[in-house]
Amino acid sequence: MEENKKCWACKRTLVGDSKMGLCPDCINKYGSVGAAVVVLCLAVGGGQLVKHGGKIIKVATKIIKH
Ligand SMILES: [Zn+2]
Repeated sequence: MEENKKCWACKRTLVGDSKMGLCPDCINKYGSVGAAVVVLCLAVGGGQLVKHGGKIIKVATKIIKH
């Protein structure tokens, strides 16, 4: 007996194998959301790095000199 797997996001019965437990629609949906989050994190992280870049370099040079 085969177990019917369901998409954990929309509860749609999955046809075939889905390693992520998501239907193709949700993979597309969450894939793009995930990509947007990654881009946002990189932008914020990059901004923080630029903001604190001077501090980080100062600390780094202190450590190197020691
Ligand atoms: Zn789904």
